[in-house]
Amino acid sequence: MSYFFLNEYDNMEVYIPGEQPHDRKYIKLNANESSMPPSPKVLEAINRAQLNSMGQYSDPHCMELREAIGKIYGFGADQVFVGNGADEVLGFCMLSFFRPGMKVCFPDITYDFYRTYAKTYQLDYEQFPLKDDFTINVEDYVKTDRDVILANPNNPTGQAISVADIERIVAANPKRMVIIDEAYVDYGTESCVELVRKYPNLVVVQTFSKSRNMAGARIGFAISTKEIIGDMNKIKFTFNPFNMSSFAIEAGTAAVSDTEYLQKCVNQIIHNRESFEDEMEKLGFEVIRTCTNFAFMKIHGMEAAALGKELKKRGILVRHYPTERLHEYLRITIGTEEEMAEVVRNIREIMERVTTCTF
Ligand SMILES: *Cc1c(COP(=O)(O)O)cnc(C)c1O
Repeated sequence: MSYFFLNEYDNMEVYIPGEQPHDRKYIKLNANESSMPPSPKVLEAINRAQLNSMGQYSDPHCMELREAIGKIYGFGADQVFVGNGADEVLGFCMLSFFRPGMKVCFPDITYDFYRTYAKTYQLDYEQFPLKDDFTINVEDYVKTDRDVILANPNNPTGQAISVADIERIVAANPKRMVIIDEAYVDYGTESCVELVRKYPNLVVVQTFSKSRNMAGARIGFAISTKEIIGDMNKIKFTFNPFNMSSFAIEAGTAAVSDTEYLQKCVNQIIHNRESFEDEMEKLGFEVIRTCTNFAFMKIHGMEAAALGKELKKRGILVRHYPTERLHEYLRITIGTEEEMAEVVRNIREIMERVTTCTF
């Protein structure tokens, strides 16, 4: 650490993404990425004319992309904020509305980035425990006086709450900000974005990283009131006015209007997930059914960590969380049919070896 590093960051906790090893080719199912390409419209949009205009700055207002996203949900561009991935959108939200000591809450098991942010910027955060079945106890968030951050559906548990429940949380106190992170909403959960028309304290965040197969393009967005979006844009212009590259703006605009392709990919993932979950149940694992692009399950017959390690040896990366409540579980992103067949074959083989010989 340098002499200059602020001691405000003494309790900082960096976010650790799913590993990206390059020592060999892996079937990469540890970061909820996609093995499918983006909409073919993206390739059409990133053409030679685009390349030739690289000498100019991108539009700092990202109008084209904001309008295209707004159109899908029936909002004007003034109610849409876009950023370099949902993570940056969340970051700008925090930077605009949270200061050290402010009270915020989120579940004990959720997207780690929330705690990273809360710790780094010294928010006064509380983590409400999920119930034993990994669902959220909605009452915790209705009763609290804290601002709320919830992933819906949640990651890594894949469980969702209803729009009616979110409405109860949002309506409980209009002076409290509620951020709903809908990274996985396209896989069959109802979005709460319509509530933005009724409540002044709701921010809905989504991403192109999951259902639109564009994690590497880094595109995320928030939909909220004009006032909240205006505030976030003000802060953006004090920090990084050109936060979106012209490529991301063009690619995102092309992708967002291709709802047909989105639906096709989502249906494929849901189909692959359901057959994979069925196979895992046949192996005796306790599958917590999700509405996302990943499977979440309790491993029986061997340690989940050991199974994860064995899969890695065989060129398959999955996610294991070495925490008290999760160490018996694995989260496995859903890939193509071929990839999932390979995963099933390997898991079956490993489990057969476990039951026929003792390690
Ligand atoms: C993957 C994920 C994100 C990150 O999205 P990016 O747009 O890639 O930054 C945010 N929230 C949740 C819950 C996620 O799982």
